[in-house]
Amino acid sequence: MKKLVASLMLAAACSVAPLTASAQNWPERPITMIVPFSAGGPTDTVARLVAEAMGRDLGQQVIVENVGGAGGTVGAGRVAAAEADGYTLLLHHIGMATSATLYRKLSYDPLGSFEYVGLVTEVPMTIIAKPDFPAEDLQGLIAYVKENADDVTYANAGIGAASHLCGMLFMSEIDTQLTTVPYQGTGPAMTDLLGGQVDFMCDQTTNTTSQIQAGAVKAYAVTSAERLDQLPDLPTTAEGGLGSMQFGIWHGIYAPKGTDAAIVDRLSQSLQLALKDQNVIDRFASLATTAEPQENATPAALKAKVESEIARWKPLIEAAGVYAD
Ligand code: ASP
Repeated sequence: MKKLVASLMLAAACSVAPLTASAQNWPERPITMIVPFSAGGPTDTVARLVAEAMGRDLGQQVIVENVGGAGGTVGAGRVAAAEADGYTLLLHHIGMATSATLYRKLSYDPLGSFEYVGLVTEVPMTIIAKPDFPAEDLQGLIAYVKENADDVTYANAGIGAASHLCGMLFMSEIDTQLTTVPYQGTGPAMTDLLGGQVDFMCDQTTNTTSQIQAGAVKAYAVTSAERLDQLPDLPTTAEGGLGSMQFGIWHGIYAPKGTDAAIVDRLSQSLQLALKDQNVIDRFASLATTAEPQENATPAALKAKVESEIARWKPLIEAAGVYAD
């Protein structure tokens, strides 16, 4: 009896959308999750953790494919144009919202080309520099960068990337333009930073925490409201006087517009389970981030986030006057 009640409750919670023919046997083969940045970077790290846990629940592998380029817009465009059969997903971050204003032309519409599965995690950013960069703290970094603006190089993952947004805010805060070096993701940018080929960058804790803890890079500030337990010595940007630089890099999962509602519901449940997976929780904690609560791992919450974040960043991007074609 208990079992029956439990399964009825589960059915009631799950059967939001009726099953169509295409949804009935789904998933019959592996699902591709596109990450619009390089392998080995912060978004890739989040995606691989979640994809593994979702795959276990769905009974099919969720394979991460890295499609970098143009600040995440190439990979997002690929998913928007993919068949809406539940076998192609996108894991993207805040760039889904900022690109809507940063790009004069996009091959997709953040508010019209996707079904929303749910929010995954919100990751703080850290300002870091190559190991021998001649600045010991945030004030030292600002002073050095202003004095040597023609020589200092800033790594980012293209217009629309989180590292681009963070750099844009930093340059505007210190009223200085810098030479940026674009990569397809901050995974390869980190390799160059460690090797001293580029001077500094702003990157998610999912890519920087272990490097900072090991003292492999210099670290100056974190964009969270409070200091992080994992990096207790790192001041917040607000503590350092960079008030506008308080934000997190939220991540969401999307499917092409027209994907069966029952499949989207099933994906959302699977995401919710993945975010309760102990391995995911522990790894997120070690990377100084946390899983979104269950109510945010839903289509409605992600849609609302994309809408509100487009509205939040539009005036700031317009004020900075940064656009890509
Ligand atoms: N998160 C991107 C990556 O995974 C980089 C960025 O957004 O700056 O490489």
